[in-house]
Amino acid sequence: MKFVSTRSSGKPVSFTEAIFTGLAPDGGLYHPEAMPDLNDYFWNLPDEISFNELASNFTSALLSPEIDLTIARRIVQDAFTFSPILKEVRDDFSILELFHGPSLAFKDFGASFLASAMSHLLGKRGERAIILTATSGDTGGAVAQAFHRKANIDVVILYPSGRVSSFQEKQLTTIGGNVSALKVHGGFDDCQKMVKASFSDSRLKKLPLTSANSINIGRLIPQAFYYIWAWTQMRSKGAFTFVVPSGNFGNLTAGLYAAAWGLPAGLFVAATNVNDVVPKFLLSGKYRPKSSVATYSNAMDVGSPSNYERLEKLFSSNIVSFRQHIKAWSINDEITLETMSRVYKHYGYLCCPHTAVGWKAAELFKEQYPNSRVLVLSTAHPGKFLDVVKKATGVVPNLPKTSANIMRKKKIAHSVSHYDEDLAEWLIQNFK
Ligand SMILES: *Cc1c(COP(=O)(O)O)cnc(C)c1O
Repeated sequence: MKFVSTRSSGKPVSFTEAIFTGLAPDGGLYHPEAMPDLNDYFWNLPDEISFNELASNFTSALLSPEIDLTIARRIVQDAFTFSPILKEVRDDFSILELFHGPSLAFKDFGASFLASAMSHLLGKRGERAIILTATSGDTGGAVAQAFHRKANIDVVILYPSGRVSSFQEKQLTTIGGNVSALKVHGGFDDCQKMVKASFSDSRLKKLPLTSANSINIGRLIPQAFYYIWAWTQMRSKGAFTFVVPSGNFGNLTAGLYAAAWGLPAGLFVAATNVNDVVPKFLLSGKYRPKSSVATYSNAMDVGSPSNYERLEKLFSSNIVSFRQHIKAWSINDEITLETMSRVYKHYGYLCCPHTAVGWKAAELFKEQYPNSRVLVLSTAHPGKFLDVVKKATGVVPNLPKTSANIMRKKKIAHSVSHYDEDLAEWLIQNFK
């Protein structure tokens, strides 16, 4: 598989080039040049296949000869020390828990795979890389955990001082080893600006700087694997519909990729909070990005989803095609809370606000299609959104032991000002 930018028909690049470049030179996102037909492959998958075996097989099916089955197995084994967990709530209603990774959110699947792939590909070439990334809180933790102890890689994370929660700060600053946390005296925008400036700073030309943004195609491809794995577990009882809590629309795009390769899933439900540009687009046919609004499901507070560019490519900008594959609902905060409370009362199940948005959209979908079966992707552990869960249900969810311990660990952060020069100096001192 080769990759091209969503914005031009420029020369296709390899997976290696696409993941180390991140954003295409013309500012577009990398997208598969052509979709392979893996239909036979899908039907030959055994029901009892493990997630890691499936992920290894698909990695090599998609990316060989660049990544053959032996290397694919190593990358996958290194990346996934956790698995998705499928839970049947009712005969026609299931949940796919994707939050059992180190940062307790589904983004661990993408981040861990990218980290592991980068580490192996660098080793093969005898090279090193420094991942430079800015975070407003959540994604930094996932990136830090994913790249921790990966050979040939150092990680530098910039976060805004005083603007992340104490748990998030602990996640960033207690890892140590190859992960450095820089506390910036400024806001998230300053952090982002500093990272950007570093990539074009002539003093830093000698450093192998690279990024690991959520738009990296190396984070999207592995997310397709849990859709496929869920299908192997669900298919004996017939067809079903995936429901995907969405913000930047990476998760949904990954599912649509799997469908383009042959996964028999006709329709997907996109569930958003009141940041509803995609649901509105499907109704009106007009795409109108806007500023984001803060909600309880804050990881989905996106007013201009970057992956819309990839969706446009997939559907050749044809609204009819969009509507054939995606149905969308927007759920407000009040209904999100009501759903969390009701789900807890009826099923004894605690869900995070993002998952609740998905749950409600699944119910609305079932009102329209009463005989359908649904699978809701559960994107984060309820313990990550303690205040909202407590407000909705009166219950304080437990965090898994490893995460609870984090609050007792010692924080190590280096302080830098919000000036580009300060970051450049720090990088030169630490990596010259
Ligand atoms: C990032 C995130 C989402 C949204 O996923 P996209 O791929 O951006 O659509 C949903 N829920 C949680 C918990 C997230 O962290």
